[in-house]
Amino acid sequence: MQALIEISNQLVARKECCGCEACAGKCPKEAITMVEDQEGFLYPVILEDRCISCQLCTKVCPVLQRGNLKIKEHNRYCYAGYLTDAELKDSASGGAGHALAKAVLKAGGEVYGVAYSKDFKDALFIKCTQMDELTVLKGSKYIQSKKGKIYSKIEESLKKGKHTMVFGLPCEIAAVKSYFEDRYSNLYTCELICHGPTSAKIQREYVHLLEKKYKSTIVNFNVRYKKEGCTPPYLAAEFENGTRYEKNCTEQILDMLLQYLSDLPVIIALLKEITEWRILQLEISGEILKVRNIIIKMGYLRLWHIPKTD
Ligand SMILES: Cc1cc2nc3c(=O)[nH]c(=O)nc-3n(C[C@H](O)[C@H](O)[C@H](O)COP(=O)(O)OP(=O)(O)OC[C@H]3O[C@@H](n4cnc5c(N)ncnc54)[C@H](O)[C@@H]3O)c2cc1C
Ligand code: SF4
Ligand code: SF4
Repeated sequence: MQALIEISNQLVARKECCGCEACAGKCPKEAITMVEDQEGFLYPVILEDRCISCQLCTKVCPVLQRGNLKIKEHNRYCYAGYLTDAELKDSASGGAGHALAKAVLKAGGEVYGVAYSKDFKDALFIKCTQMDELTVLKGSKYIQSKKGKIYSKIEESLKKGKHTMVFGLPCEIAAVKSYFEDRYSNLYTCELICHGPTSAKIQREYVHLLEKKYKSTIVNFNVRYKKEGCTPPYLAAEFENGTRYEKNCTEQILDMLLQYLSDLPVIIALLKEITEWRILQLEISGEILKVRNIIIKMGYLRLWHIPKTD
């Protein structure tokens, strides 16, 4: 596997490319296509015969533009909270993501976030303009999402003057910031603290495995099902034939670790890789995410240790 990706004569380390698709979204000639590698992660490939060497793709790449963006730093505040109604159950954690999305729609704005595809084999960036459309955004999909035409759709919302809120992983929000810079005062972003997503290929294979085992199609799938509250997280799947599968995720991970104990070096390498990804994401996003940005994370903080303020 090549260690570098080339976009318009500039090189991006494969390890750093987060598959944000900003380069593909910006290309006026549709000369960039996203292709899955062996592990199922998406990387850009340029169709040379279409490329006109305009360099627009390199100007929006959050990796290549690291340190170049001129975005003013604003005040920082820290809040903690959670939904107090029944809606809390389907959110990944305290439902701050859902509450923010609702507030934006209520103000006449438009929301962009990530939903599963109908067959639960992919995660896709979608646009929501109605309250009932927000349901599919709830819950964490721990896989790399496909962006499709999302950058141009976001730009349409921004140009219409709508309050536009984009939810995504830190690298994706870094890409949104890099793509739109400080051109729109109606752009709001919310990033989810992230340990790095897995690839959609793993999800596809897992869904396929469950469907084969239970001889039916999955009609609902949740990797953070709150059976007993926020912890321990459960994985839950419902099938067309009425079967329901539930598994405590901690037990599932232990089962997997035991199964692969003979591959301990692989597990250590994997954990190292995940940690590096996370540090990299924080490095990239930390530099440029300083305005109208919200960061949300899992709610395991002990809130009573935080001094109350007005
Ligand atoms: C891949 C991944 C890794 C994460 N790792 C950590 C971690 O290590 N530590 C931690 O504290 N929190 C982590 N989170 C964040 C956490 O899981 C919750 O998303 C966060 O606490 C918000 O919870 P909520 O109840 O407010 O969100 P909800 O109200 O449930 O809303 C969920 C929001 O997440 C967005 N979303 C869901 N899946 C994806 C995806 N694949 N890509 C982009 N956006 C998505 C949706 O658009 C929606 O806006 C991670 C999330 C993801 C998706
Ligand atoms: S240089 Fe221009 S035409 Fe070529 S891939 Fe990049 S954006 Fe597309
Ligand atoms: S813009 Fe995104 S997908 Fe394209 S090379 Fe840069 S990091 Fe990778």
